[in-house]
Amino acid sequence: MTATVTPMMAQYLEIKAGCQDAILFYRMGDFYEMFFDDAVNAAAALDIALTKRGKHLEEDIPMCGVPVHAAEGYLLALIRKGFRVAIAEQMEDPAEAKKRGSKSVVKRDIVRLVTPGTLTEDSLLEARRNNFLAAFAEVRDEAALAWVDISTGEMRVMPCPVLRLGPELARLAPREVLLPETHVALASQVAESGAAETIRPRSSFDSASAEKRLSALWKVTTLDGFGAFDRAELAAMGALADYLDLTQRGKLPLLRPPVRETAGGVMQIDAATRRSLEITQGAQGGRETSLLGSIDRSVTAAGARLLERRLSGPSRDLRVIHERLEAVRFLRGAAGLRDKLRAALKAVPDMDRALSRLALDRGGPRDLAALRSGLEKAADVSDLLGQEGIPRNLAQAVLALHGHEEITDHLGTALVAEPPLLTRDGGFIAPGFDTDLDETRRLRDEGRGVIAGMQADYITETGIQALKIKHNNVLGYFIETTDRHAERMMAPPLSERFIHRQTTANQVRFTTVELSALETRILNAANHVLETEKRHFSALQRFVLDRAGPIGLASASLAEIDLACAFADLASELDWCEPEVDDSRAFEISGGRHPVVERMLKRQGEAFVANDCALSDGHTPAIWLLTGPNMAGKSTFLRQNALIALLAQAGSFVPATKARIGLVSQLFSRVGASDDLARGRSTFMVEMVETAGILNQADDRALVILDEIGRGTATWDGLSIAWAVLEHLHGSNRCRALFATHYHEMTQLAQRLDGVENATVSVREWKGEVIFLHEVKKGAADRSYGVQVARLAGLPATVVERARVVLEALEKGEGGQGSTRRQKAVIDDLPLFSAAVAPPPAPVVVEKASVVEDRLRRIAPDDLSPREALDLLYELRGLL
Ligand code: ADP
Repeated sequence: MTATVTPMMAQYLEIKAGCQDAILFYRMGDFYEMFFDDAVNAAAALDIALTKRGKHLEEDIPMCGVPVHAAEGYLLALIRKGFRVAIAEQMEDPAEAKKRGSKSVVKRDIVRLVTPGTLTEDSLLEARRNNFLAAFAEVRDEAALAWVDISTGEMRVMPCPVLRLGPELARLAPREVLLPETHVALASQVAESGAAETIRPRSSFDSASAEKRLSALWKVTTLDGFGAFDRAELAAMGALADYLDLTQRGKLPLLRPPVRETAGGVMQIDAATRRSLEITQGAQGGRETSLLGSIDRSVTAAGARLLERRLSGPSRDLRVIHERLEAVRFLRGAAGLRDKLRAALKAVPDMDRALSRLALDRGGPRDLAALRSGLEKAADVSDLLGQEGIPRNLAQAVLALHGHEEITDHLGTALVAEPPLLTRDGGFIAPGFDTDLDETRRLRDEGRGVIAGMQADYITETGIQALKIKHNNVLGYFIETTDRHAERMMAPPLSERFIHRQTTANQVRFTTVELSALETRILNAANHVLETEKRHFSALQRFVLDRAGPIGLASASLAEIDLACAFADLASELDWCEPEVDDSRAFEISGGRHPVVERMLKRQGEAFVANDCALSDGHTPAIWLLTGPNMAGKSTFLRQNALIALLAQAGSFVPATKARIGLVSQLFSRVGASDDLARGRSTFMVEMVETAGILNQADDRALVILDEIGRGTATWDGLSIAWAVLEHLHGSNRCRALFATHYHEMTQLAQRLDGVENATVSVREWKGEVIFLHEVKKGAADRSYGVQVARLAGLPATVVERARVVLEALEKGEGGQGSTRRQKAVIDDLPLFSAAVAPPPAPVVVEKASVVEDRLRRIAPDDLSPREALDLLYELRGLL
């Protein structure tokens, strides 16, 4: 069998061999085509038609394709579904290939590997979120995590022991994480964080080559100027650089010098806590219902990204927190200035992303214009803020905002006001910037006019009125005159200039060096204009990239100011107060509210009930044990206090009338298992694993929120576990904690443990109904009102009634010695259980009397033997 492989297929297979783990977009004219398994997978993922094209090794080749102009949308869909895409472009004009022979195939090559962590297109990115690519490396006993957003050029690195990987990934929420092949076991942690994992060879993490790669990246001879990095940090950053080289095919993005983060710099919040507090994502996954979504008042994309980073990693540095709060305080008090600043900021484009596209050679004229207008606005913002008497943070930001005149002036004269998106559309270089270009354009646009001018010049020069410049397809442009005048033109001196080309019946045609040059120029003008504009574009691109440092700083400063304004706006409109954050262990909140629940209630026209919380006197940490019926507002109260601490350390004012918070080092929040069913693991096990995590890690600066821990198991088990956990938090962790439980028995702990106080969310009973007051006050709840709540939830009246009877019976049997036996007696006595033994099972039974009646009704006396009748009598007696 002679298997025929066409030259094109041979090329395809060769390219495909270099990107086995990606779908190959193979450029053919106006389409990206996919073949074989790629086609099958992509057609299914994109819901597009799967067809066939020719045969390979006697088999049909499955094929599908997407048009190039619409490729971005398809690309995004594939990336979202977890695929990677390699893009192979035609590297030459098909005409070139033809010249080499009819069988010759157009040269193609992979120009880029698109992966979740390496996107740069605006249409593929969320403007208000960072798109991080992270890498984890371990070298001997050091381990580190590095991450980069190539769409903004930020790169960071920190020491990160394996144990901290999960929480750090939860904080950063990267899209893709690189792991060395030696650490495949960590893939599940990556998956947990929602990121795609990419396993890379060990060599990619080699710390010695990393140094070389990184020095080349930042064009320095040594990295010392950026800080002292350990081997693992170098390895992690080197792996990022290596991967970028692979995916971007040598076009390295513009990366700012790496910033080293210290583990102790930010409040530690693990993944479960983030989920439970719905910090950046709501329970249903959306941003809108999260804390981030409800408080985001930023007006720039960079500001929104900064807010997300702040909320994801609130500071633990008192000086930093105080400076940020000072800026918010200043702007809150200056409403007029704030409005003006926000108006100016609104017009600031996304400079980070524009700069990064330019660095990757994927930018266009509009990106240059974005930098121009961004820097112009930066100057406006700087003028508005001035320099005297403003807080340090803002003053620092202002420093980066001015002094960009060289750039704005240059771009100002070079670019038209509203340039097109793509370089190939042309028309973006402003008139007057390049006189040659202006001339070429004039030729292109006014070709005929220029010819007419030339004709007039020649008439004057020769004195021949009948001279005309004409055009045909054979000769192109030519000068024509009647044979009467031709003689004079063919004799010196005119013959030196006018070159004879053709003589017809009664006309003679000439050309001049000038005219043929003009002709070529006219014919090439359009091309030429475009070429020149492209050349200018490249020069301008280099010009701004050479100044990327200061531009990046200006952009970061604008984001900082935007965020401070956003926080100030929030504080003044919602009446939030400035928190006092200090080095104590205080946690004193007056009039605290839950920002998200309050906002939701407000929309429904309802008011939120503010509550106080005082977990310590500033020295001795304390724990509040919160009881109260379901739906009373326990979870809300717990979470609002955690969020207040988080907001304060993120540099925001807080939803309270007064707040004093001793620096929180770690924030933990756990919700009892049954709220977590959707996650599909043994939920009780998850709950216990997570609780163990807290008990093992929480230090005395931690703030711990436990909501109904122990609920996932049988009552007595659950109570004992909750009890022991509370004792451990109190005795060993010695941290501040809020502990909600429905185990009333636990309220006794308050008498035994010094730092434990009872608190309850009050309800009022009115005509047998329960009214939620949502007020938190000291003391234990007297009852749980579960039955009343069940009624509110719409349980059938008969069931509610029945539950009430059971409850009363149980309560009567409770307490005192031997209560278990007594309870059992009560339970045995309960009609529910007794009735159940009588076949067939009773329908809905409401009272004891009716149980008896019901039993009687179901008797068929004719069928009873005397013995059965006697038994029945005993049975009925027992029902009473
Ligand atoms: P629990 O944890 O006690 O079951 P939740 O905290 O889930 O109760 O609160 C139940 C509902 O009560 C919330 O969805 C909210 O609408 C309302 N609620 C809670 N706290 C307050 C409050 N302080 N003011 C007003 N409404 C509240």
